[in-house]
Amino acid sequence: MFPPSIRTNRRLAVHAFARLYSTATSAHPIKVAIIGSGPAGFYTAHNLLKNERVQVDMYESLPVPFGLVRFGVAPDHPEVKNVINKFETIGANDRFQFYGNIRVGDSVPLQAIQSNYHYTVLSYGASEDRHLGIDNEDSLQGIHSARSFVGWYNGHPDFKDLAPNLDTETAIVVGQGNVALDVARILLSPIEELEKTDICEHALEALRKSSVKHVHIVGRRGPLQIAFTSKELREIMGMPNTRFIIDRDYVEKTVSEHKAALTKDRPRKRLLEILVKPQEPADSPRPKTLTVHFLKTPRAAVPDSSGARLAAVKFEDNELRDDAVAVGTGSFTEIPAGLLFRSVGYKGTGIPGLHFDSRRGVVPNNKGRALDSQGKIIPRLYVAGWLKRGPTGVIATTMHDANETSTMVLEDIHQDLEAKEDALASVSGAAGVLGTSAAKAVDAVSFSEWKAIDAYEREQGQKLGKPREKIVSTEEMLRLVHEARAAKA
Ligand code: FAD
Ligand code: NAP
Repeated sequence: MFPPSIRTNRRLAVHAFARLYSTATSAHPIKVAIIGSGPAGFYTAHNLLKNERVQVDMYESLPVPFGLVRFGVAPDHPEVKNVINKFETIGANDRFQFYGNIRVGDSVPLQAIQSNYHYTVLSYGASEDRHLGIDNEDSLQGIHSARSFVGWYNGHPDFKDLAPNLDTETAIVVGQGNVALDVARILLSPIEELEKTDICEHALEALRKSSVKHVHIVGRRGPLQIAFTSKELREIMGMPNTRFIIDRDYVEKTVSEHKAALTKDRPRKRLLEILVKPQEPADSPRPKTLTVHFLKTPRAAVPDSSGARLAAVKFEDNELRDDAVAVGTGSFTEIPAGLLFRSVGYKGTGIPGLHFDSRRGVVPNNKGRALDSQGKIIPRLYVAGWLKRGPTGVIATTMHDANETSTMVLEDIHQDLEAKEDALASVSGAAGVLGTSAAKAVDAVSFSEWKAIDAYEREQGQKLGKPREKIVSTEEMLRLVHEARAAKA
C-alpha cells in the first residue's frame, strides 16, 4: 500500500490525466492545426488525438510527409526510419487530415490558420543552415552545406540538381557532429553497401564514379567538446575499407587532464575511449582514410589556379580557454582538398506574422507555449521540435519535446473548456482556410495520395533491389497524385 501522500498524489495524477484525455462528447470538435510533418508534428498529433474531441489538420510544405526522417536520416540507417510505421497509424486516424504541398507563411498565411483553428502548433523544423563566414565560401565550386549534400543523396526536391563534383581525392568536413559523420560515411562507404539502401540513384551514380579517398573531419575545439555519439563513432571507425587517423596522444593527454570531470560524465568518457581505441585489424588493405582534427577554425577557402574551384582550406590553429571557448593563435595551416562541406548545424527561420529569435533560430516559448516580443504567452499558439529548442537532438529527444508541448495544449484545452464551452464553437478548419476551390488550386496532397506515391516508390525500388527509389521532383510527385485522383474519379 502507498503512504497517504503518495496515494493523494496518485489520485491527483489520475484525475489530471482523465481531464486531459477527456472524451466527453459535445457538438463541437476541437480543431488543431499542426504545421510541419516531421517527428515533432507527428508525435504531437499522436498525443492530441488521445482526446477524442480533437481533430488534427497537418500542413506540410512538401507533397510528402516525415521531414528529416525521410530527407535527413542516412540511407544506411533503415532501422531509424521504422518510426514511420507509427506515423502511418496516425495518418490512418479518421480525425487526422494531411495537407501536403502547402507552405504555411507562403501559400497560406499563418494568420489564416490561427483564425480558422482553435489551437495551432508550429513544428516546421530548421530548414536553413549556418555558414562559416569565411573568404570565398559562396563563390568557389566544391563548397556545399552538409544540409544540401544530405538532401541530395536523400532525394529532397530542393537539392536534386546539386550535382557535387566528386572528382577529387580529398574532402573536408567542418564540424564534429553526427551529420558530419553521416557525410563522411556516405563519401567513404563501399558502393555495394549503399546500393542496398534507399539512397537515390542519381547519388549512387555519382558516388560510383567518385574519386574521394580521404576525408578530414575538422573541429574548432577539442575531444571533450565533440558532438558525435558513441554508436555513430564506433560505426565509422569499424569501416573495413577506411583507416581512422587521429592524434591519440593528444586525446589521451586531454583525458588524463580531465579525469575528475570525466568520472562524472560516463557517456563522454566512453566516447573518448572509443576515439583512441585502435581499429580492429582488417582482412584487406584500407585504401581510404578518415582523419579527425581538433583545434582548427576555417578562415579561408583557397581557389585553384583557375580561380573557380576549391584547392585547399586555410585553418587557424586554436587553443582552448578554461571556459572551453576556442581562441585563434595566429598560426595557420592549409589542408588541400577539392571539396568542403560545412556541417556546423541547421538553422530555423521565421514566417511572416510570427515573433522569431533569429539568432537562436527558434520561436521563443515557455515549455512549448509561444511567446510574443514582450515575453507574454500568445494564446493558443505552440511550438515543438527543432523550431522550439534549436537544431539539436535525435528523434527520441524530439518525441519528449513534443510530449511536453502537447501536454500544454491539452491543459489549455481543458482550461478553455472549463471557462466557456462555447469558446470552441465557431471555427471552420481546413475548408475555411483553403476553401474548396483554393484547395484544388494549391493542389493539397492528402495522406492517401501520399500512400500512392509511397507505393510507387517502393515498386520502383524493388526493380532496383532497393527498399525504395524516391521521386525527387515535386512536379513528378504531383503528376502521380493527379493520376491517382483520375483513377479514383
Ligand atoms: P523536421 O524533421 O525537420 O520536420 C519539419 C517539417 O516541416 C519538414 O517536413 C518540413 O518540410 C516542414 N516545413 C518546413 N517549413 C514549412 C512550412 N512553412 N509550412 C509547412 N511545413 C513546413 N535522429 C535520430 O534519432 N537518428 C538519426 O539517424 C538521425 N539522423 C539525422 C540526420 C540528419 C542529416 C539530420 C539533420 C538529423 C538527424 N536526426 C536523427 C535528428 C532528427 O532528424 C530530428 O531530431 C527530427 O527530425 C526533428 O524533428 P522536427 O519535426 O522538429 O523537424
Ligand atoms: P551538432 O551535433 O550541433 O554539431 C555541430 C558541430 O558544428 C559541432 O561540432 C560544433 O562545434 C560545430 N560548429 C558549429 N559552428 C561552427 C563554426 N562556426 N565553426 C566550426 N565548427 C562549428 O549538429 P549536427 O551534426 O548538425 O546534428 C544535429 C542533430 O542531429 C544532433 O543532435 C545529432 O546528434 C542529430 N543527428 C543524429 C544522427 C544519428 O543519431 N545517427 C545523425 C545525424 C544527426 P562547437 O561545439 O564548437 O560549436
